[in-house]
Amino acid sequence: MSKEIDASELMSLCKRRGFIWPSFEIYGGVAGMFDYGPLGCSLRNNIVDVWRAIYKGREGFVEIDSETVNPREVFKASGHVDEFSDLITYCKECEAPFRADHLVKEFYDNPDVLTPKELEEAFVKHSIKCPECGGDLGSVEEFNLMFKTTIGPGSSRVGYLRPETAQGIFVNYNNLYRYNREKLPLGVIQTGRGYRNEIAPRQGMIRMREFNMMEVELFVDPEDKDWVRFPKIENEMITLVPNTTCEPVEMTVGEAVEKGIIANRVLAYFVYTTKQLLIRLGIDPARLRFRQHLSDEMAHYAADCWDAEVLLSYGWMEITGIADRGCWDLSRHAEFSGQDLTHFKKFDEPVEMEVEKIKANHKLLGPRFKGQAKDIAAAMESADPKSVVDGKLIVNVNGEDIELTSDLFEVVTVREKIAGKRVIPHVIEPSHGLDRIFYSVLEHAYDFDEKEEYTVLHLKPEVAPIKVGVFPLMEKDGLDECARDIYEVLQSAGIESYYDGSGTIGKRYARMDEVGTPYCITVDYETLDGDTKGTVTIRDRDSKNQKRIPVSDVKAIISALISGDSEF
Ligand code: AMP
Repeated sequence: MSKEIDASELMSLCKRRGFIWPSFEIYGGVAGMFDYGPLGCSLRNNIVDVWRAIYKGREGFVEIDSETVNPREVFKASGHVDEFSDLITYCKECEAPFRADHLVKEFYDNPDVLTPKELEEAFVKHSIKCPECGGDLGSVEEFNLMFKTTIGPGSSRVGYLRPETAQGIFVNYNNLYRYNREKLPLGVIQTGRGYRNEIAPRQGMIRMREFNMMEVELFVDPEDKDWVRFPKIENEMITLVPNTTCEPVEMTVGEAVEKGIIANRVLAYFVYTTKQLLIRLGIDPARLRFRQHLSDEMAHYAADCWDAEVLLSYGWMEITGIADRGCWDLSRHAEFSGQDLTHFKKFDEPVEMEVEKIKANHKLLGPRFKGQAKDIAAAMESADPKSVVDGKLIVNVNGEDIELTSDLFEVVTVREKIAGKRVIPHVIEPSHGLDRIFYSVLEHAYDFDEKEEYTVLHLKPEVAPIKVGVFPLMEKDGLDECARDIYEVLQSAGIESYYDGSGTIGKRYARMDEVGTPYCITVDYETLDGDTKGTVTIRDRDSKNQKRIPVSDVKAIISALISGDSEF
């Protein structure tokens, strides 16, 4: 039944049927930019709903929606201002820009780890010229992928369009921590746009300049990288490509942790959660694997990182990254903002230990600071001894910084009962590229019915943009009225439906199959009269089987089929 998938054929179906349109087409379009049409919006929303049902529903995470324009400070702290770049080269003749690593990819397994100098040498060694005009290529330089702007008219305050949604969660850590009543684990999700000024967007929706993300940031106790639901999935199978062998291997999630292949149980749990999500969305399990980042590919702060890769007509493609980011994000934002972004970890029992404290010299403070002395002494005694620099301590009292010389205090060691300690939470991040998932779901659903000679999208009912096609056999004799009533009942119940009264029934089925509609209902003369009065035909897209069901049960039957509570 199925035939080789041609990405351009699928993209033209998407365009023709209103899934995806190249943006600004009337002005010639802009590379790497797409608009979602009516069916695309519905499919995308359904994908987001499934993701939300897993993370917000099952796992109990909270959702936020943060700003897309961020001041420079945020991305200076996150490392994006200094590090978020690709290597670019321009043709010396026609001045076309190219991603330097893409030009040498047939000669190296992992060209994105090559330095600018190594890439320039590779151009010479492999006689690489400009793919557009055959001209010589120029030097290789860094190109920052963030879109830059200024915030406010005439302002010099630099801002950037966010290249990921994650930073909006990190900078809200204290608000979220308070909201979670100062407990860990703390799981937060966010969906929204990310912007990357890609050098050479290509492969349709795979590399876009404005794209959609579904990100999850889970803050955990660094000394407790476990997950309460792990035992439920530890015996499930998963296909892994570890960076030690670079060969795919099947094993259980539990085995992967025991053998030290996946760094810890919480990361392993969310690698498997990603598999559950993708399969529920319609990704073919045989075309899904999890590849561990090579050591030179992994961010220096990451304890471990896995990419969910799917096999597409373009080859294996990353659609989700799942990383243990350690304490990097919160330590950096704490350092750059000067705020405390920690978790207070209570001990089971208070522990007596030696601690360093600042002891104020009340005899000298009184005469020198008079009425302020009491407040200053209190501020000194609650200050961290580590904040003493060059024998001096600065405390803030009623908005005023007061410098205190070493004769006014001493650092003493005392035994105290300590209730807990402050730790910087570690972050586990499953970061999903929504557009890549959207496209992959379409490719894996794509099929060509040789007998009928038309395309069928075998979309899962839960994600299909239109759930039901509703047809009157003829648009007369009250059949149309009855069909419209059914259509209205379904639409009002939030079951997206499509009324179609034109053309042969075969043509109407074909139109629905082509956009992945799982069920069609036909109202015929038997609905109005005879032994089967009050029933309609329901047809299943994949088996093409048909049966009669009572009109009064249509809504309940369709709901159960979509939720998976019953089978056709
Ligand atoms: P990253 O933060 O680079 O790991 O990206 C997270 C996810 O976003 C990836 O797994 C991709 O699915 C997606 N993604 C990254 N860059 C793009 C892009 N230019 N266009 C579409 N999706 C992207």
